[in-house]
Amino acid sequence: MILVLKRDASDEEKSRIRAALYEKGCVVRELDTAGQSVIGAIGRGDLDPKHLTAMAGVSEVIPINGKFKLVSRQWHPHDSQVKVGPIAIGGHRVAIIAGPCAVESAAQALTIAREVKRYGAAIFRGGAYKPRTSPYSFQGLEEEGLKILARVREETGLPVVTEITSPGQAELMRQYVDMVQVGARNMQNYELLKCVGRLGMPVLLKRGLASTIEEWLMSTEYILAEGNDNVVLCERGIRTYEPYTRNTLDLSAIPVLKKLTHLPVVVDPSHATGIREKVAPMARAAVAAGADGLMVEVHHDPDHALSDGPQSLYPEQFGQLIRDIYVIAPVVGKQLDFDYLEKAGRNGKSTDAAPAMVAYLGEPGSFSHMACRQYLGDDVKMAPQPAFRSIFEAVRCGDAHYGVVPLENALTGSIHENYDLLLEYDLNIVGELYLRIIHHLIAAKETPLDQVTHVLASEPAINQCRQFLDRYPRWQITHMNSTTSAVGRLKQIDQPGYAAIGSRDAADIYGMSVIASGIETNPRNYTRFVIIGKTPLTERPKTKSSIVFSTVNQPGALIEVMKVFAENRINLVKLESRPIHGKPWQYMFYADVEADIEADPYREALAHIAAKTDFLKILGGY
Ligand code: PEP
Ligand code: MN
Repeated sequence: MILVLKRDASDEEKSRIRAALYEKGCVVRELDTAGQSVIGAIGRGDLDPKHLTAMAGVSEVIPINGKFKLVSRQWHPHDSQVKVGPIAIGGHRVAIIAGPCAVESAAQALTIAREVKRYGAAIFRGGAYKPRTSPYSFQGLEEEGLKILARVREETGLPVVTEITSPGQAELMRQYVDMVQVGARNMQNYELLKCVGRLGMPVLLKRGLASTIEEWLMSTEYILAEGNDNVVLCERGIRTYEPYTRNTLDLSAIPVLKKLTHLPVVVDPSHATGIREKVAPMARAAVAAGADGLMVEVHHDPDHALSDGPQSLYPEQFGQLIRDIYVIAPVVGKQLDFDYLEKAGRNGKSTDAAPAMVAYLGEPGSFSHMACRQYLGDDVKMAPQPAFRSIFEAVRCGDAHYGVVPLENALTGSIHENYDLLLEYDLNIVGELYLRIIHHLIAAKETPLDQVTHVLASEPAINQCRQFLDRYPRWQITHMNSTTSAVGRLKQIDQPGYAAIGSRDAADIYGMSVIASGIETNPRNYTRFVIIGKTPLTERPKTKSSIVFSTVNQPGALIEVMKVFAENRINLVKLESRPIHGKPWQYMFYADVEADIEADPYREALAHIAAKTDFLKILGGY
């Protein structure tokens, strides 16, 4: 049952309601949504809704239909996130968990951890207690293995996850690791489930070898019923009649789970396929299907691995997979949780540090706001700004730690003002993200398209949705300043027949319905944002650099600079020119290259470029 309390319910009434529910033997949870208290009560079926509705302070009683209670979307309509150390699994991120099947030695674990971190893993995995099919196979290093995991965490900063195989290990887990895994073979070990429920640590619950989704979610319910909501589900393949793969990866479980539960879902393509060459295709498919993360086995010397060598990726293969995921994630509205490592470290480690402040243009629901959330997560504070210059100003004067600014759109081109501001302000680019821009037609409630008469939309949105709008020549189109002002105005007007073009976030924020989705003419509609900060990135590998330069006004001057890139095999991915203020017909060139231009082996090339230009500024490596 979900009990919605009256807004003015007194504390005394609330405690009486709670006491009555406890008396019935219910599991009780409380939520506060938009100032309204909600109590969830899960019992064994003898709760009488009529009796509950009659209690003082109760406004409404809604039964939770179906078997799933605390795991269900009905109980918790929004996606939940599970924090593992500083890393959040769920929401707009794709979190990568990687490492060997088993911890074999400190040297092995540390070597692999450094490699997977370098390529973008957010969490390290490694088994210390290995449930093996044969009693004669390697069973894991046990407590020694846990100590090694704690050392990995200390030396790399990566949170660690390992499998718990018996309730007796609970205290050791608490001592040494950040997340416990309940393996496929133990998915229905109810004593173990209750134990990890009470343990309170984040749990990675794998799907049983031959379990239905319903059985899996009922097992999850055991953990939540003990008061632990931090569960991540892991699809790892199920047993079928097909012998070409170790198991059959049930990718359809992802959308099924997404509908039924609010909990994050990750996919383990390693145990699902059992064969190295099948891991990357399935991992890519899992992200495309909406997985919140991947768990991948990686080994630097798989031929000598003590378990699961044949399915372990070499570190370079893992790196290649991560590059693919980086490209695929924005297509489904997510970002790879790689660029955030340093920030997560800065924000999350010390509990007394204030959350980072980020400046962006517009209002909640704007695409810039979405970019902030996807890049920096939901824990940061977001400061809306009225103009691009105010973003730079806020970062310069220290009001914001970061600024998020759009630089170019795949269809409509560069945002020149921001190029000029990058030159003017002495700030650094510390990251970038590609956001897929999907437009929706939004109305106050479900309205058939032929009943729409007026559409409110920003200029870029109108241009990007031209083909769709041309199908309805009778619609009256009103130009608005931004997508959020269009949706905001729609809410104010509150008249049938009116609609606005905006993002799904904007529709959610204003409580509106999407009546046509994906209405942009070209689905390859991306905006590239950069993240600016006061200090350059230091801790993590940089793969890209942005510079701005001007050349002397003589024939071949630009080609001389380009030659340095070519001779040093530096891939130029963007070149943009902007007029120099006060010097008619002279230009600044903005270049993005796929190299950390300030580090070896490119330092010399950078010195050559400096010699061939009369102005050179590094905008940042990221
Ligand atoms: C593992 O992750 O190492 C493992 C044993 O997985 P599963 O329980 O999915 O077989
Ligand atoms: Mn394994």
